[in-house]
Amino acid sequence: MTQRTPLMAGNWKMNLDHHQATHTLQKLAWTLKDAKHDYSAVEVAVFPPFTDLRSVQTLVDADKLQITYGAQDLSAHESGAYTGEISPAFLAKLGVTYALVGHSERREYHAESDALINKKVHSALKAGLVPILCVGEDLDTRRAAAHVQHTLLQLEAALADVTAEQVRTLVIAYEPVWAIGTGETATPEDAQEMSEAIRVRVGELYDAETAAAVRVLYGGSVKSSNVASIMAKPDVDGALVGGASLDPEEFAKIARFQ
Ligand code: PEP
Repeated sequence: MTQRTPLMAGNWKMNLDHHQATHTLQKLAWTLKDAKHDYSAVEVAVFPPFTDLRSVQTLVDADKLQITYGAQDLSAHESGAYTGEISPAFLAKLGVTYALVGHSERREYHAESDALINKKVHSALKAGLVPILCVGEDLDTRRAAAHVQHTLLQLEAALADVTAEQVRTLVIAYEPVWAIGTGETATPEDAQEMSEAIRVRVGELYDAETAAAVRVLYGGSVKSSNVASIMAKPDVDGALVGGASLDPEEFAKIARFQ
């Protein structure tokens, strides 16, 4: 059976300037080195604002931190006349491992379509970045009991022309929009239902090996107090954490999911 390393991803959103980011990352690194707990079986990643990435890279490299980092978004284009956009190749040069793609705040506030998200998945993969593809339904869709169908359609659209080999490396984050930043958490059963549905659909679109390899995260008001029950579910391989990742001690507690 494929071993999927749990991934705890902290999305800092538009918080922490580069001084604050350095300080927060240092505190997180000290906390993760605490000999009382073993973090060796989990991957911890942070997603700072673009303007912090160079400082994060310097700190991670200088102190050889066991923390990976990613971008919160990226351009669908490689280079050229796209004012204000950030090239995936530039991110790769900064040692970035991951890129969030299709976060619900991008879909909602920047009108990102499934077609654009698919282009961004391809541009990330082309630059050697691992996309963390965010999918999930809003409250009306859940109330209409159309959440699984809605989320799987987002998934299929985002994966158009992506190969099985590529899908095996990528990460999918199920984030019900109604649970992001609201304090409302989906139940562990909700998280499992969708994570399993995503894995089954990846198996149908590709093959069993690909379905077993892809990591599926849950995101939406994850805290140290609720992470254990969510992580106990067999198809949940980690968490995408917003607000709670800004506190290094709380995020470290989440990373050991107890
Ligand atoms: C997120 O931004 O992806 C997120 C899940 O935020 P929060 O944990 O604050 O709900």
